This record gives sequence, structure tokens and C-alpha cells, in this order.
Amino acid sequence: MKKPVLAVLALVVCALSVAAQPRPAAPPPPPGRVLAVKAGRLVDPDAGTAASNQTILVQDGRITAVGGNVSIPPGAEVLDLSRSTVLPGLVDAHTHLALTIIPERDAGKWFYSMVNDSTPYRAVEAAGNAFTMLQSGFTLVRDLGNNGMYADTALRQAIEAGWIPGPTVINAGIIIGGYGGQMHETPEREGLLYPEYIHADSNAEIIEAVHRNVHYGAKVIKVLVDESADHAPYTVDQLKLFVAEAVNAGRKVAGHVHSDQAARRAAEAGLWSIEHGGTSSDETLQLMKTKGIWRVGTDVPLTAYHGTQRGFDRAVDRLKAAYRIGVRSCFSTDVDYYIPGMTRGEAVMNFLITWKAAGIPAKDILKAMTTYGYQVSEVEKERGPIKVGLAADMIAVDGDPLSDIDTLRKVTFVMKDGKVFKKDNVVAPAAFYK
Ligand SMILES: [Zn+2]
Repeated sequence: MKKPVLAVLALVVCALSVAAQPRPAAPPPPPGRVLAVKAGRLVDPDAGTAASNQTILVQDGRITAVGGNVSIPPGAEVLDLSRSTVLPGLVDAHTHLALTIIPERDAGKWFYSMVNDSTPYRAVEAAGNAFTMLQSGFTLVRDLGNNGMYADTALRQAIEAGWIPGPTVINAGIIIGGYGGQMHETPEREGLLYPEYIHADSNAEIIEAVHRNVHYGAKVIKVLVDESADHAPYTVDQLKLFVAEAVNAGRKVAGHVHSDQAARRAAEAGLWSIEHGGTSSDETLQLMKTKGIWRVGTDVPLTAYHGTQRGFDRAVDRLKAAYRIGVRSCFSTDVDYYIPGMTRGEAVMNFLITWKAAGIPAKDILKAMTTYGYQVSEVEKERGPIKVGLAADMIAVDGDPLSDIDTLRKVTFVMKDGKVFKKDNVVAPAAFYK
């Protein structure tokens, strides 16, 4: 039976390919209206400087001119931010938008979502979290797993397709790990954690897991290098296999790291970024610096609702050490919980507490929240910096974030892909639904 069916299919394919003659190109759409952003001050976080009275022209989602002597074309819509400081959008380099620990339900246990919440529910939840991240000025996130069955891919695609406003998403799909993933299962409940993780112990499983994630829309590969003492970390050779397979697919590898031993293995294998790594020694940080490996530390602050003094002291100590040694650390949070009365974006912004406690100057914190975020996401040639030709993502605040980083807590204006999302401190996303 199969051969005749195949023959018919082949005929259909041939007929389709014959029918698919090149059509005359459709006329390009007329250029959209020019937006002119008048910035009282315009910050360049990479240089750590600001220029006064700058004009940024935006058309069809892209920046077409920036400078002090840019003339505004007739008919342009003027956005007067002459009393504000304009700067590029912010980045959370480690988040989980389709995971939310609900305090009264989950007792702080993140894995309850796996049991209680369907992937479609988590995708909608992610849309809500993405909205508030943009509201707080985050125009780009790396979303690193724990998102059900690829709710992160759905989120990325929905934002790219224009269904909903949200940050640009660099997503990891499903986290790949050795037996047990991040769970501590009982033998009676074996497999409870799947499909929240992809189980990959052998080399063949590692290769297949990378291919599977790429196929289902992952832009970065997330590997659980280790978790705790009852999980054997991947070996350097296994991690090198991850890197080789990812490189072959044009992807980088982000490694979730718990112990210093795992951090060292990740660094030796040449992973792109080390996530968490809260116990990394000075020697390992030095190796990361030498090899140019990103530190995505998710440096947890101590607040009334989250964190411990011990954890906070350690986070501050390691962030300070990384800064002293010269490892490039990205602003990153791992926030995956709901705090009554706060948006996800506001909870994320509280990670400034750790960065300030580590004594890092405001201009360097800002660099970690912008320049480094674009670079670890590998988008800096398309979006991030406020430069001609790049996507028009920008925010505005009152005051000077180069000297007072807490000015970022009140983002009054947000533009994403040339569309105004927030203006005069009010969210008004109508432009995203046209
Ligand atoms: Zn995480």
C-alpha cells in the first residue's frame, strides 16, 4: 500500500513545484510615519556617558537617525522626552516567564507548577509576566527552561508575530539534564518530572536532546551541569559534546551550575555562560575571565518576602569577587514567584539590592543590565544599542541612572520595535494590536 501512496505524493509535490512559478514581486508597502523622540539626555551605557538634547528618528520599527543636529521631517509624530533621560531597554539574562510559584498554593516549591498547571495555562501566564517585564523597561530576556512543553517558544513566537507586547525572548526550550533533572524523586513516582526536563545521560541522548530542542524552537541550549550531591555532574567530555552539537546548530550552551566543581568543568568545556554558580571560587572565576565565559549569577537579594541572610551574603561576596577579577556579570534574576502586590517586573528590579550591596558603581550596573545582556543574548547587531539601523527599543526615566541606579525603578516610557508601549508612566499598548 505504501508505494502507490508515495507515488501519488510525489506527483502532488511535482505539481506543486511546477505551480510555484516566481510571481512578480508585490510593491513594497509605503514607509510608515516617522516618530521623533526628543531626549533631554541620551545615555550610552557601553561608554558610561550621556549626551544632552538628542533627537532619535524611528521609522518602521528601526532607528533611522540619532544626534544633536537631526532635523525632524514634516509630518513626524514628536515624542517629547526633553525632561527625561532616554536609554536602551533593560535585560534580565535569566528568567522563567512560564513558571510562577504561588505562595498560598505551592509552599515555595517551584515544581508544583509541573503537576498543577498545563502548558497552555503556563503560556498565558508567561504572556502576563512578559507584559509586566516590558512595563518595567525590560525589552529583552533570556528565558531558560522550566516552561512546560515549550511554552517559552510559544511566547517568543507570539511576541514576534505581534499578537502580544513583550520583550524579545531568547528561549531555551526544555532543560537537558542527567537522570532526575532538578527533582528528588521517589522510585514509586519515577518520571514525575518529565517532560519538564529532557533526560540525557549517554552521548546519543545528549545529541538527540540538543536536536530536539533546536527543532522545537530553542535559541539557546540549557544544560543542567549539576544540581546537588545526589546528581553526578556531567563530565568535561560530555559538556564538550553539548557545545559541539549546539555550535553545529548555531546555538550557544548555558550551564546551570551548583558546585564549584561543576563550574570549573563548565568553564573547561567552554560553555558560553555559567548560570548561578553561587559557590564558584576565585580560581574558577579567573578561568571564566580568561576564557571569556559569561557569568549569569542570578544574585539573590534579601527582601522581606524572599532570600536569606546567608544566601544574600554569599551572593554579594561572589558578585563582588567577579567584579574585582573582571568576569563579565549579567544582570539576571531567576525570579519565578508571585509576590502579592508586586508585578514580576518589580520583583526583578529588586535585584538591584544585591548589585548595590556589592559596591558596583551605577554605570557598571547599567552596563550589566544593557550592553552585557545584549551580548550574552547575541542580539547586539540587531537590537539593544540606540544606533542607526537597529530595532527601536528604548526607555526613559527621570534623573540620571549613571549616578543613581534606582532611577530605573520608575520607567516612565517604553518603546519596543518602534511602538510606544508606555508613555507618561502609563501603559498604553494599543499600537501592538493593529
Ligand atoms: Zn533558573
